[in-house]
Amino acid sequence: MVAAVTKQLNKNRSMDKKVTLAQLKEVVQEAYDQVKTNTGGKNADYIPYLANVNKDLFGISVCLLNGQTIHVGDTDYRFGIESVSKVHTAILALRQYGAKEILDKIGADATGLPFNSIIAILLENDHPSTPLVNAGAISACSMVQPIGDSAKKWDAIVGNVTDLCGSAPQLIDELYKSESDTNFNNRSIAWLLKNYNRIDDPDMSLDLYTRQCSLGVTALQLSIAAGTIANGGVNPVTKKEVFDATLASKITAMIAAVGFYEHTGDWMYTSGIPAKTGVGGGVMGVLPGQFGIAAFAPPLDGSGNSVKAQLAIQYIMNKLELNVFSNNHITVVD
Ligand code: GLN
Repeated sequence: MVAAVTKQLNKNRSMDKKVTLAQLKEVVQEAYDQVKTNTGGKNADYIPYLANVNKDLFGISVCLLNGQTIHVGDTDYRFGIESVSKVHTAILALRQYGAKEILDKIGADATGLPFNSIIAILLENDHPSTPLVNAGAISACSMVQPIGDSAKKWDAIVGNVTDLCGSAPQLIDELYKSESDTNFNNRSIAWLLKNYNRIDDPDMSLDLYTRQCSLGVTALQLSIAAGTIANGGVNPVTKKEVFDATLASKITAMIAAVGFYEHTGDWMYTSGIPAKTGVGGGVMGVLPGQFGIAAFAPPLDGSGNSVKAQLAIQYIMNKLELNVFSNNHITVVD
C-alpha cells in the first residue's frame, strides 16, 4: 500500500493523508511501466499531420507547487497542444473580462456532446456553452483583446501560454498548415457563431483558434501550466503571478465539467481529477492545492482522448487514493 494514512481525524471518516515525493515518483514510474505497452487507440487522422506522429511516444510529468517536477518518458517532445490550448485561452479571456462576463458571454456548461458539435450550438440559444469546446474556444479567440488586431491578439495568446507553461511554446508550421487546409467543420462553427452574433470576425477568430491548437508544447510544460492553476495562478516554477487567485476555481470548474467532452462524467468518476484533453495526445490535470499533471501519447479513443494518458493518470490517482471529491485532506510532502 503506497499511500501513507497518518491519522484518523474524527469519526466522520475524514482523514489526513500524506503522500511523500518518493511515493509519488515511484507511482509515476509504475504508471509509465504498466501503460507503456498498451496498444489501444489510434492517432487522430482527420488532421493529416497528427496521423504521422510516432504512436509510441509516451511521457508523464508532474509539477508540484514548490516547483519540483517529476518526469518519466518523452516529456521533452513537442506535440500539438490542440484542445488543451482551450484552457489557456479561457484563462486569458477570464483575465481580460473577469469571471462574470465570461459566464454571460460564453458559459461554463457541459455540452454532453463531441468537442466539434454543431448541434450543441443550436441547442444553446444564448451562448456557446463553454470555452472548452470548439464553439466556445473560437468565441474566446474572438473576445481576446485587442479586438480586431490579429497580430496583437496572437501575441497575447502566446504570451499567456508562455506564462502558464513557464517557457515559450513553438508553432508547428506543418500542423498549422495541415489543420488550416482541413478544418471545414470548424469553419461551419465559426460562421454559425457569426450568424448568431456571438463572434466578431469569423475568419480571424478561426485562424487564431487553429494557430493556438498548432502550438507545440511538451508534457513538462503542460504539467507546469496545470501546476499554475493548482497553485492559484502563480507559476510554481517561475513564481510569476499569471492570473488572479479567484479565477483558479473558475477554470478548474470548467475543466471538471467538460474536459473529456461527452465522457467527462466517466472520467471524473474513474480518475477523480479535473483534466483537459487534446487530439494531439496530451492530457493536463489539475489537483487544486496539490499538483499539476500531464501525460502525452498520440493514440486516442473514439472521443479523441489519449488512451495511455488516461490510463496513466487514472493509475496514479487511484494508487495514491488522490481524489478531488474525497473528504480526505491530502498533502504531498518532501
Ligand atoms: N484543433 C482541433 C479541432 O478543432 C482540436 C480538437 C481537440 O483537440 N479535441 O478539431
